[in-house]
Amino acid sequence: MQYLPLFVKLTDKPVLIVGGGSVALRKAGTLLSAGARLTVVAKQFADEFVQWQQQGKATLIPGSFDPVQLDGKLLVIAATDDEQLNDSVYQAASARNMLVNTVDDQPKCGFIFPSIIDRSPILIAISSFGTAPVLARRLREKLETLLPQHLGPLAELVGRFRSRVKAKISGFAARRQFWEQVFDSDVVRDVQANQLENAEQRLQQLLDEPQQQAGEVYIVGAGPGDPELLTLKALQLMQQADVVVYDYLVSAPIMELVRRDAERICVGKKAGDHSVPQQDTNQLLIDLALAGKKVCRLKGGDPFIFGRGGEEIQALIPHHIAFQVVPGVTAAAGCAAYAGIPLTHRDHAQSVQFVTGHCRADGSEPDWHSMSKANQTLVIYMGLMKASHIQQQLLLAGRAANTPVAIIENGTRSDQRVVTGSLEQLAQLIAHHQLGSPALLVIGEVVSLQQDLHWFGKRPQPAVFNQTITQME
Ligand code: SAH
Repeated sequence: MQYLPLFVKLTDKPVLIVGGGSVALRKAGTLLSAGARLTVVAKQFADEFVQWQQQGKATLIPGSFDPVQLDGKLLVIAATDDEQLNDSVYQAASARNMLVNTVDDQPKCGFIFPSIIDRSPILIAISSFGTAPVLARRLREKLETLLPQHLGPLAELVGRFRSRVKAKISGFAARRQFWEQVFDSDVVRDVQANQLENAEQRLQQLLDEPQQQAGEVYIVGAGPGDPELLTLKALQLMQQADVVVYDYLVSAPIMELVRRDAERICVGKKAGDHSVPQQDTNQLLIDLALAGKKVCRLKGGDPFIFGRGGEEIQALIPHHIAFQVVPGVTAAAGCAAYAGIPLTHRDHAQSVQFVTGHCRADGSEPDWHSMSKANQTLVIYMGLMKASHIQQQLLLAGRAANTPVAIIENGTRSDQRVVTGSLEQLAQLIAHHQLGSPALLVIGEVVSLQQDLHWFGKRPQPAVFNQTITQME
């Protein structure tokens, strides 16, 4: 961290500005809105400075900068168009250990002015510390549109209740739960509709008659790994939950977005390692919800595609536990898009099948014949271990040996690897490139389009295994 973001109370604090032009004016405006007492030294002053002097908001010193003017000031701004003069202000102030802002000269800035989003009392400050001001500005614009205007009055109302809530509800966790309830309630809608009295009454009512918090389970799809593929709803619930129950497919950057103080419970590890039996996971969700917790059951991809989301909900129903389901981008859709493989294409595939590579519990074989038709795409989840059997069965059932295949490892993530070749090489490709979990197999004519439609990650590498195999990492 190059600079420490701080919010400084400037009310009635003395600040010196050297310079009287338009740049100085902008800084002065910001400082005045924070209540600073300004002294401005300049040869010439823009009109607004003169008005501010008449209104008693600024003291103007016509003439040259003199280090003695620094005496007693808290902050200094060097905002002239004379680089040498700015430098002498910087040197004089630094010698006195004062914080200086030298405009347009970041190395000579002891503090900087961030871009501000003002929903007072909520304030957001953004800075790129001079490295990418346009990026910082665009970020600010994005946040501006995301943050509703009523945020200010809402925070203000809540602020007035803080001590009352603290007196009535003991314990940090219980208070946090109360506030979560408030922010989910019609208090917010009243503030939004500018019905502040109603909002206040409603908030008081919630405080007077605390309601037993009912537990709830959110079955949330987290997508294949790239956090930007999360839905807004997934993000919202990840931020709202008391507990997040997740498995290994949920990527680390996605877990970063979980609310900081939420409890995290991992119920699944990589294939082969120990993982919690499904029944225990079901019971965990039940116990947490019955204890009044808001539980986010975070799953890789989509919860209803090879995700056991259905089974978990079936377990909740007898206990009358409320639930919601949030779909996610399933691995087939995410990995195919990031590998440049359209799963259907008018010229190459009229249908797509998603199948699991895991054996059935009764040991019976799937319908290889229906999976072997030409001009359809087969996407196999959890197929890595059984790849050689899959290859053999598809060939036996009549799929052409030269049908293109792709194996996508860590799809949509920064370490995505895509290896392509033909069906007869499938198992060999996996072994040769040492592909590991999670990986998805895509089999079908559409895979050949990947040569042209590739866009994510590096260009395909030259063939490393034999002439027909390419890999990109
Ligand atoms: N519910 C998940 C699938 C869970 S089954 C979904 O809708 O995507 C687990 C299998 O999904 C893995 O064995 C692998 O085949 C596939 N998978 C999930 N994420 C993946 C990723 N980022 N890259 C490649 N395959 C992935």
